[in-house]
Amino acid sequence: MKPRAPATEKRAVRKLPAFSGELAGLGPARRRALEAAGFSSAEDLLWWLPARYEDRRFPTPITRLKEGQSALVKGRVLGCRSRRARRGGLTLTEALVSDSTGNLHVVWFNQPWMERALATGAEIYLFGRISLFSTKAGLRLQMDNPSIEPVGEGSQSSMDKVVPVYRKIGGLPSKMFRGLVHRLLEEQPPLDSLPDEIKSAESLPELADAFRQIHFPEEPPGPEAGGSFERARRRLVMEELLAVQCVLGEARRERSLSSGVVIPATQEAGKLLRRMLPFHLTAAQRRAFREIAADLASGKPMYRLLQGDVGSGKTIVAFLAMAWASHSGFQAAFMAPTEILARQQAQRLAERVAPEGLEAGLLTASVSGQARRELLCRLASGDLKLVVGTHSLFQEKVLFKNLGLVVIDEQHRFGVEQRARMVAKGVSPNVLVMTATPIPRSLALTLYGDLDISVLDEKPPGRLRVITRVRDDSSLRKVEAFCRSEMDRGGQVFYVFPMIEGSEDDDTQAAIQAYERLGSGAFRGYPAVLLHGKMTAAAKERAVAAVRQGRAKLLVATTVVEVGVDLPEASVMVVMHADRFGLAQLHQLRGRVGRAGQQGYAIMMCSPGASPAAMERLAILERTDDGFEIAEADLMFRGAGDLGGLRQWGGGGFRVANPVKDVALLESARKWAVAMTKGEISWKEGEKERFNAWVRSWSERLGSWGQIG
Ligand code: ADP
Ligand code: MG
Repeated sequence: MKPRAPATEKRAVRKLPAFSGELAGLGPARRRALEAAGFSSAEDLLWWLPARYEDRRFPTPITRLKEGQSALVKGRVLGCRSRRARRGGLTLTEALVSDSTGNLHVVWFNQPWMERALATGAEIYLFGRISLFSTKAGLRLQMDNPSIEPVGEGSQSSMDKVVPVYRKIGGLPSKMFRGLVHRLLEEQPPLDSLPDEIKSAESLPELADAFRQIHFPEEPPGPEAGGSFERARRRLVMEELLAVQCVLGEARRERSLSSGVVIPATQEAGKLLRRMLPFHLTAAQRRAFREIAADLASGKPMYRLLQGDVGSGKTIVAFLAMAWASHSGFQAAFMAPTEILARQQAQRLAERVAPEGLEAGLLTASVSGQARRELLCRLASGDLKLVVGTHSLFQEKVLFKNLGLVVIDEQHRFGVEQRARMVAKGVSPNVLVMTATPIPRSLALTLYGDLDISVLDEKPPGRLRVITRVRDDSSLRKVEAFCRSEMDRGGQVFYVFPMIEGSEDDDTQAAIQAYERLGSGAFRGYPAVLLHGKMTAAAKERAVAAVRQGRAKLLVATTVVEVGVDLPEASVMVVMHADRFGLAQLHQLRGRVGRAGQQGYAIMMCSPGASPAAMERLAILERTDDGFEIAEADLMFRGAGDLGGLRQWGGGGFRVANPVKDVALLESARKWAVAMTKGEISWKEGEKERFNAWVRSWSERLGSWGQIG
């Protein structure tokens, strides 16, 4: 794939050309909001899949309503009034609705316009949640803030049927999406781009029908969702998987045509590496390095994925390869996803190679002025052979004399274009991508195309398994006491939070607030630092240094610690709101403690009110330490009933497909993609063009994937 515009440029908001004002209900304000939220076409709207469905088919008789239930009620308005509440400046609109069984109180907060729709005697549907409300006369059931609709709206009705509920985005309500999608499917249904042959062989419906089923199913899709809903889902899955397979196939063809540099194995190099090693390599590390060395010497550009759980020791393997390349006169670059990591790795690399008289440079956004100019000069002249950096490395101004090896750490953190641009800085350089996201091998092959894979399936010796416990709020005090006792014994403690700033409704999540709360409360007197993604590079560096040098005992952080900050003395990690993280991510997080041979502990704290199912999911982490098992479990959980799930594989990519569950479809997508490139598929008028456009959109989007486009 050709490099595109520099990634540092802010991506211009793209237009929504397909609507061009023709779609009723999409005025300029909404259009802008949609564009700002990343929607660029009608198709994007269709792919914004329901997060869940509400079954509004059967009205519940008023006397049968129960507290906590979301229910549809069909009734007549007996009366209605609005008033200002005594406290809080709220406007309360109250109505009394009756059906043949009884009367129901209905309340809206701050929606005075509701009154207009509530003419006495009008017959309406109400859908909302039933709560228990205490009055002077005792407890009564009421319905809070329901959506309502006059009876008899016909096909425009949002009652009397299964209704899709969309996640709110760009401040746009679910109801608006429902309307837009409905009109789109009526007025501008998407044209099909899948050849008949594939559709009939896989028994897949037309694209427009599939979208109709997914957005407006007749039955609420349950776990046993069979029949037409499942067929529709498979159609969308195929759509995604096929696009990805085509992109991979294209990348594969391009690679197979290129030839690379030869980095020969010499005795000299071997000796250098042995001198560099601070410890004995594990058998897995030795195997991986041998595989890499063979690639380097082969004359074909290496394209290898080095997979290994957190702490399995990927870095040293990469460093050896880099030293090897530089020994043969080539330059080698190491891309790290964050400034902290780049600094840390640059330092580690420099320490390793300094005794051999080699130097390792650092290039990040905060290296500037004279230092930067000098560094760029030395890279261009080939004087500097080893460099570690962040995204800064692939800016246009950075030129290499003879880049022979590119290492990409935590590959999922980089977009496909960014990786491509880096690779383009050498003449078919060798590429080693590293990931701690375990992917079953068979799946990796299908997902990543034909890259070679080395696996570190063994941990360095002496590492104890991190003891993991899932806890809820009731254990908060105990957990804090445990942390204090660990710190008293010389250990360090991480508190990890999912968000940087608390939103107004849920500020308990805030690492910042927590830092203050913990520092003046449970951990008063313990030196603490805060670390989050929005701090300046220098401030982050200071925080990390304070922990590394033992000046700080407590680190309160957002998930920036996930990607490999190496603080070996840390022994306890407390993850707050653990139920909001994926299992694989939690597994990576806990790999951050107990790295210096001490016993590590991970405590997964659930949010107040987390469901038993959520705790059950986390319990997997108590039971197993196997990254592969955890990743699979993660995918299974995420897929279930979560059609529009935001975070899919590695945080990017699919909106419907679940590579683990849909592995059979993945296999057939691969076959069809091959058949397409061989010209064995016949297309109808316009079909191929539409399909290619779809594939192109994927090749741009594949940001979070493993392949170098
Ligand atoms: P990751 O695979 O998560 O990137 P690292 O490369 O950061 O893991 O290694 C984790 C820790 O283990 C580092 O502190 C590293 O020095 C150490 N380490 C790596 N390999 C070995 C080994 N063979 N023996 C002992 N310690 C090792
Ligand atoms: Mg690492």
